[in-house]
Amino acid sequence: MSKQQIKQAFVENIAQNFDAYGFSRRDFLKFCTAITATMGLPFSMSKLIAKTIEDPTRPPVIWLHYQECTGCTESLLRATHPKIETLILDLISLDYSETLCAAAGHQVEEVLHQSIEKNKGKFILVVEGSIPIKDGGIYCKIGGRTAIDLVQDIGQHCAAAIAIGSCASWGGVQSADPNPTGATPLHKILKGKPIVNIPGCPPNPYNFLSTVLYYLTLGKLPELDSKGRPKFGYGRLIHENCERRPHFDAGRFAEQFGDDGHREGWCLYKLGCKGPETYANCPSILFGDVGSGSWPVGTGHPCFGCSEEGVGYTKPLHEQAEVKTFTPGSIYPDIHSEKKGGITVAGAVVTAGAVAVGAKLVTDVSKKLGKHDQKESLSIKS
Ligand code: SF4
Repeated sequence: MSKQQIKQAFVENIAQNFDAYGFSRRDFLKFCTAITATMGLPFSMSKLIAKTIEDPTRPPVIWLHYQECTGCTESLLRATHPKIETLILDLISLDYSETLCAAAGHQVEEVLHQSIEKNKGKFILVVEGSIPIKDGGIYCKIGGRTAIDLVQDIGQHCAAAIAIGSCASWGGVQSADPNPTGATPLHKILKGKPIVNIPGCPPNPYNFLSTVLYYLTLGKLPELDSKGRPKFGYGRLIHENCERRPHFDAGRFAEQFGDDGHREGWCLYKLGCKGPETYANCPSILFGDVGSGSWPVGTGHPCFGCSEEGVGYTKPLHEQAEVKTFTPGSIYPDIHSEKKGGITVAGAVVTAGAVAVGAKLVTDVSKKLGKHDQKESLSIKS
């Protein structure tokens, strides 16, 4: 078969996969456009992304698992629309993965060594899980060798490495005080290689896929922040794009799980939401492709800062977050107490509005604030 025939067969294979899952070529191109946008690349790059996916040359990937729950792999495999695992497995040559390999024992060890020998300096190393370093690293061994030994030995031959999930990126739950096994992130063990951290518990599969696609399309790693995370996925605070942000700005907070504010979908800051100090694109790209609200804050639970070192698994769950962009205003009303007069927030807004933009806006704002507030706002007690 000629190279052209192989390529044609591969492209047809992708098309058939989409057909099998009920997706058309159009859906595929829409997916490429969405992924391009996720990476913060110009729209025109989506054609190049599509070409990369259709390219039959599949870069070898070795995927190692250490101290973790396999949740990162699980989240990748559970993604849908389109079946992301199909894309990943068609896009890369997953030569070794302890979770996904059908073989076991000496047989799979042999596959690993063959892949390393054949692809020295060319394969992408993905590490899932933290690496224990206490007591000589005895708390995690595979094939009789410690995780430290394996990472350093295999890692020296890779082209680049990806630390997937919070455990590999900064230690994760195992590294919580008192960190009994000395759980350590990949970047502290593997030196001299470019490493991308994709934290999250689990990380969003699109951030992983986008990083791989970026590397394959442009031949370099995406721009990283000071913590080694791709800026396209971790450049903004969760708080900046959260759908509950208008409630935060308006001073409407859930005070307890199940109270009226919680049921109304108000801001979860007072329940310990770490969105104001956690960088990730969760509210923008959501999880599981099942529609709006499919992320922790969307379902009513405060963000616990899983993608932020020093926040997730470090700060108490319900401790209030440090607000990085600005501190909440002190003039917001208590949503549960009866207003007994004086200058209300509504009054301040209406007065300021009257001066600034005239009576029409005052009427609109007053309507939004409700009749009770409107009445109060017009009588300022001395
Ligand atoms: S504190 Fe949390 S729930 Fe409130 S707006 Fe920020 S991210 Fe959203």
